Amino acid sequence: MTGPVARIDLDAMRHNLSRVRELAPGCALVAAIKANAYGHGLIESASALTDADAYAVARVEEGLQLRREGITKRVMVLEGFASQAELRLCIGRNFDLVIHDCSQIEQLENYLATARAPAGSRGHTQLALWLKIDTGMHRIGVPAGECAAVASRLKQLPQVKLIGLLTHMANADDRRSDSTMQQLQRFEACIDAELQFSIANSACLLNWPLTRRGWVRPGIMLYGASPFADTTAAEEGLRPVMTLRTHLIAVHELKKGDAVGYGSTWRCPEDMRIGVAAVGYGDGYPRHAPNGTPLLVDGRRAALAGRVSMDMITIDLRQVEQARVGSSVVLWGEGLPVEEVAAAAGTISYELFCRLTQRVKFRYEGMGLFKRG
Ligand SMILES: *Cc1c(COP(=O)(O)O)cnc(C)c1O
Repeated sequence: MTGPVARIDLDAMRHNLSRVRELAPGCALVAAIKANAYGHGLIESASALTDADAYAVARVEEGLQLRREGITKRVMVLEGFASQAELRLCIGRNFDLVIHDCSQIEQLENYLATARAPAGSRGHTQLALWLKIDTGMHRIGVPAGECAAVASRLKQLPQVKLIGLLTHMANADDRRSDSTMQQLQRFEACIDAELQFSIANSACLLNWPLTRRGWVRPGIMLYGASPFADTTAAEEGLRPVMTLRTHLIAVHELKKGDAVGYGSTWRCPEDMRIGVAAVGYGDGYPRHAPNGTPLLVDGRRAALAGRVSMDMITIDLRQVEQARVGSSVVLWGEGLPVEEVAAAAGTISYELFCRLTQRVKFRYEGMGLFKRG
């Protein structure tokens, strides 16, 4: 078969979840599976992560997809609803909706005023809400100073239950920044004894012990990547989940000075072999990956040489004498930390995972298959 294959190791995913449990004993765990589980496959990942207490998705549509697939576990919708129509879709699905903006409260109040018994709700189901507090990231959330007022407004609504407060850290991946502790202090001022709370993403879980409380919300670490620039997943006790692999479809003996690929950005510094592998930006491999970006060919380190094309890349084979047509090429995953590839390409593992296109074939391995929660 030609073309790249992403092998997804669901046992590794479960191992990474157990690593979260070790780090945050006694905490409730919301597994972030938004954006197609960071490109790993929404339903397959949910099926592997049945030990989570809830799943987190960004958008209503992602939550609906889980429900359509028969997944009944608690689902937290991190951006909440964006319109009355979406709110209507949410009622009866038992989502935990995050409220981050007063416009949502107005929509909710209007909705409740006109439709006292939400259609589709079974009996007296209450709409579960979380209130997002902006403690300094200035992306979404109500300002920390308005938390008490907004929470009491929500507590007054009929058929609605305010479950808890959450916040998100802007710099938790920066070990030297003190902004995480400042954000934590602002959040602590909001904590309300009646409400639950949630703070920690992966970087918090791994690096900021004081944030390991209440509900923790790991994402990237479940997929076996480190959120830090200075550690790999293995150093954090995590196992890579995705291995992206393809193979060589041609090998050329070129002469010193020969140019390779669009724009002739690589010129052979000596007589050498160049391999051509079947993967390109049309599969989601980053086009901006420069010469020297690491790869594995037949398990040995090699480097990108020349510009990434839509369907192909070209590889400096000087370190891999045995390479020939058909040789395996690993773009990242087992044996080649995705963090290293991301750093070389000037991006983060999250983006490499998320940008894989429909053309990549996914193969799932491991115990988690087809057990639903
Ligand atoms: C995506 C997301 C997470 C998970 O973040 P990671 O860095 O992948 O662990 C947690 N909380 C919120 C609100 C998110 O959007």
